Amino acid sequence: MEVGVLAVQGDFAEHIAVLGKLGVKAKEIRLPHQLEMVDGLIIPGGESTTLSRLMSLYNFREPLQQMAKEGRSIWGTCAGMIMLANEITEEDPVPLGIMDIGVQRNAFGRQVDSFEQSLEIQALGPDPFHAIFIRAPLIIRVGEGVKVLCALDEARPVAVQQGNLMATSFHPELTNDHRFHRFFLDLAGKSCSSRNGSV
Ligand code: GLN
Repeated sequence: MEVGVLAVQGDFAEHIAVLGKLGVKAKEIRLPHQLEMVDGLIIPGGESTTLSRLMSLYNFREPLQQMAKEGRSIWGTCAGMIMLANEITEEDPVPLGIMDIGVQRNAFGRQVDSFEQSLEIQALGPDPFHAIFIRAPLIIRVGEGVKVLCALDEARPVAVQQGNLMATSFHPELTNDHRFHRFFLDLAGKSCSSRNGSV
């Protein structure tokens, strides 16, 4: 199984470093044709307006939508999550429409641009996950096939999964807790084996 990290903008190096610690040599994806080599992809956090422009400029949109349709795994963190959404509350950036979620950018207001919070995430086991939110988006609509992995105050979703796709408002790559990256590798592994007919 091969995984990649979209390396056109944002904190892709941090994701690659975490995957490296887990023994996985992730590919830096800088051009669309490189997507053909990978079973799973992380779209990192950064600035979604810039990310959106670069995706259009380098013709990433269609191949990413295709990748999701084929059942390969994609995980968007923060700005990456904004790009995966079906719709966002503003006109710019234009999201990819890959996940059935609606997202509001910079949803936590300027006074709390960044904060950290311990979260209960059943899918990761009993220990709380220390989540870092940086000018974070919030999921304001969740489609039928979307599973909420974690919600702030049990009301505001910040981590979701829809089959082979996942999205988090926060930045697991900035912590030493690698359970989310393992969860993603698991998902990518499963979608890889089901596409190859071994499951
Ligand atoms: N606020 C940024 C945006 O709207 C996302 C911030 C992040 O990725 N940490 O794109």
